[in-house]
Amino acid sequence: MPKKYELPALPYAYNALEPYISEQIMKLHHDKHHQTYLDNLNKAIELHPEWGEKSIEDILKTYDKAPDDIKNMLRNHGGGFYNHSLFWLMMSPKKDQMPSGKLAEEITKQFGSFEDFKKQFGEAATKIFGSGWEWLVVDKDKLALMSTPNQDSPVTQGKTPILGLDVWEHAYYLDYQSKRADYVQAWWHIVNWEDIAKRFEQAKK
Ligand code: MN
Repeated sequence: MPKKYELPALPYAYNALEPYISEQIMKLHHDKHHQTYLDNLNKAIELHPEWGEKSIEDILKTYDKAPDDIKNMLRNHGGGFYNHSLFWLMMSPKKDQMPSGKLAEEITKQFGSFEDFKKQFGEAATKIFGSGWEWLVVDKDKLALMSTPNQDSPVTQGKTPILGLDVWEHAYYLDYQSKRADYVQAWWHIVNWEDIAKRFEQAKK
């Protein structure tokens, strides 16, 4: 287990998600925002090093039991660190992928069709008041939508996130201004369904 967490490198170039997410946003989002969550998570661990012995998932499941001076740091910055670490992997320069196999079947079963799923997910993402995330999670073997405020993570509630969309303004404002729905629509082009299918298989085990 790490004593200190480290910033994962982006698995593609900063401009690889263009034209849907600009190089400028990716640089700020990864190098500044993600870095800040990481730095504050590590500060919390410096204050109480025993928390560095835990995996990030464990931290997010148990921060309630942490000392008062780091509880919120673990929740917000631990959550921010974890959510963004997933987010980069859930997108791909390989554009316009589609879900396939078992995952595609489950999406149809749970939401009616892939188009219906995108509609329901997009509406939920657009409705989140203020900052947060929209997720597709595996909950007791079933797919479900979930919205979380701020940097809260589905893992805290025992659910496994397999797809997540950051709807904080820092994720889209430079490209889309206040048009969050346009950002959501564009984002479908860069979803890494190959990665999501793998997460789905693992979550079902
Ligand atoms: Mn973000």
